[in-house]
Amino acid sequence: MMNTTLSRRMIDISLLGPFTGDFTKPYSFQVGPHWKDFIGFRVVEGTDHSRHFFGGQTWELPICPNCKESLHQIFTFDLSDPRLAIVRIDNLKELPLISCLNCSYYWEPQTFKLDPIKNQITILHQNNTQNWEMDAEDKIPSPLPRMDMKLMNMFKGDIPVDDESYESAFESFGDEYICRLLGAPLYASGPIDRECPCCSKEMIYVSTITGETYGNERNAISTVDFVIGESLIYFLFCKDCLLLKTEVQST
Ligand SMILES: [Zn+2]
Ligand SMILES: [Zn+2]
Repeated sequence: MMNTTLSRRMIDISLLGPFTGDFTKPYSFQVGPHWKDFIGFRVVEGTDHSRHFFGGQTWELPICPNCKESLHQIFTFDLSDPRLAIVRIDNLKELPLISCLNCSYYWEPQTFKLDPIKNQITILHQNNTQNWEMDAEDKIPSPLPRMDMKLMNMFKGDIPVDDESYESAFESFGDEYICRLLGAPLYASGPIDRECPCCSKEMIYVSTITGETYGNERNAISTVDFVIGESLIYFLFCKDCLLLKTEVQST
């Protein structure tokens, strides 16, 4: 039975963003003070003490059923980094974030299965409703050129604790950096579905990747035009099932 403190809190929080039914879960909301301790990282070019990188190909990747080329290994994170302890799991040395970036397959939720023994990733679920493919001359190369990346603590303005920081977070994301790791997700339209399609448990929110803003290419990623429109690709991970799930929202 709900007491008055609880119902009062529901009313307060419902003003902060979409309410998905469980107010104990901070990811139900776009903006709000509940995010204040979710610092997270900007992923930027540079050398770190851990081996994080953009591009390259260290896994056997699935072929996009549409483009007939390997999916992109976009960012890969070294799980020996203590800052990534929440994602760490035995037998998995690194966590790759993958998707095809050249066709409409990435617009719909996708699920991938990681096999660290075979060093292989397979597609469990994809849905292509739009049948769109990037023009040949604009295609993002696969594999992407590999570059070392480092993690930087997010700035105060990167964490959406109120409307102002929500706006400032969106202004710099895609301009100064294109990958947010852990911390608070920046929802473009509303909370994402975090249920694991395999075990139904809550998946870990890992990262969001966006494209560089038009006219500002090669600022955040210097070696390639990383342009994917206004899309934000959210990556979730289930440690029990070794499942990687993506979901896209647009600003
Ligand atoms: Zn494709
Ligand atoms: Zn699972």
